[in-house]
Amino acid sequence: MMKNVDYIIVGSGFAGLFFAHQLIKNKKSFVNFSDSQKSASEVSAGIINPVVLKKFTTFWLAKEQIVFLKDTLKEIEKYTGVNYLVDQRIHRIFHDEKEKELWLSKSTNDDLKDFLNPTFEKIENIHNEYESGVVNHSARLDVSGFFNDFKSFLRCNGYLIEEKFNYNILRQNTYGELTFKNIVFCEGMKVKENPFFKDIPVQPNKGHHLKVALSQPLSTKVTLKKKHFLFPSQDGSYYYGGTYDRHQFYPKVDDSAKEQLIEGLAEFYPYDFEVLETEFGFRPTVRDRRPILGNLENHENYYVFNGLGARGILSGCYFSKVLFDHIEKDEPLPAEVDVKRFNF
Ligand SMILES: Cc1cc2nc3c(=O)[nH]c(=O)nc-3n(C[C@H](O)[C@H](O)[C@H](O)COP(=O)(O)OP(=O)(O)OC[C@H]3O[C@@H](n4cnc5c(N)ncnc54)[C@H](O)[C@@H]3O)c2cc1C
Repeated sequence: MMKNVDYIIVGSGFAGLFFAHQLIKNKKSFVNFSDSQKSASEVSAGIINPVVLKKFTTFWLAKEQIVFLKDTLKEIEKYTGVNYLVDQRIHRIFHDEKEKELWLSKSTNDDLKDFLNPTFEKIENIHNEYESGVVNHSARLDVSGFFNDFKSFLRCNGYLIEEKFNYNILRQNTYGELTFKNIVFCEGMKVKENPFFKDIPVQPNKGHHLKVALSQPLSTKVTLKKKHFLFPSQDGSYYYGGTYDRHQFYPKVDDSAKEQLIEGLAEFYPYDFEVLETEFGFRPTVRDRRPILGNLENHENYYVFNGLGARGILSGCYFSKVLFDHIEKDEPLPAEVDVKRFNF
């Protein structure tokens, strides 16, 4: 039997689900195709961070993106009944005195003064001889809660189709028994299998993280960051990650990344810990560090939403509305994120 929808969304990582939220909010009909594989979004740390913690810089629209994310999570809470925002700040552990001085001097910059707290803190029971700096307005998303609940909301309301989308049966406005107005492709790195958008310039950046049991729990419930992030999970274990690797595409755990994480944690955590699990995912990154949004000239109702890089939560949330307003209200796309900035 034919079914009519306003939208098809392919993929259910941050891009797909935040776009689905825009459709729910604006009362559009849609279906969301979700294959059975764990997305990069689902293995992500969930860090919401307005600062690049290597160089102590910020990025395009950071403040606007944080405000918009917090509002959006409140809207999602209205239909899932749960608040996924974990109000725990990032504490950046300094490697040396020089880093501390750099932080302090940058904390007076106009674009950073809201984020870099100039008062340093000493954290008990870990190595932090140079203390740590707090990132104001940083927080975390409860990633597993968000995906479990959001997907079960979609399932219960008939939005979710739990199968791989088959590009071979897609026509201009039909997909098998479905007719649709627009289709939005949110496949992350699997966009390489999409015959229409496979050539967009996204490059995989492989990230691993560990699930660890700490023999001595941390004395404070914050997110610690030295080389990588460490924070407590709901089940009493800790998340430690993630690594970055632009050269390793093998879809299996890489032992050297695991070693790198174990060494990184041992550098500041002075007690025993046990690795319970190692997971990995591929971040869809773009050279200019901007997402990729927009449609094709010859298939005007085929849209792409990709290139979220290392900031899937902030970018995914913010640009889902930008894309929605572009499609529904004819708002122009900012040139910085328009897929048409590339010749492919
Ligand atoms: C270890 C690690 C830690 C990270 N930590 C953070 C963090 O703390 N904060 C942050 O903001 N970002 C973080 N990221 C980055 C973030 O995960 C990515 O930006 C984000 O996952 C990209 O989301 P996406 O929806 O574009 O792609 P994905 O998350 O990859 O989702 C795409 C989904 O579409 C599905 N799909 C693809 N093709 C089809 C098809 N044909 N049919 C059906 N389904 C399909 C895929 O299987 C997948 O489930 C991290 C990434 C990694 C790897």
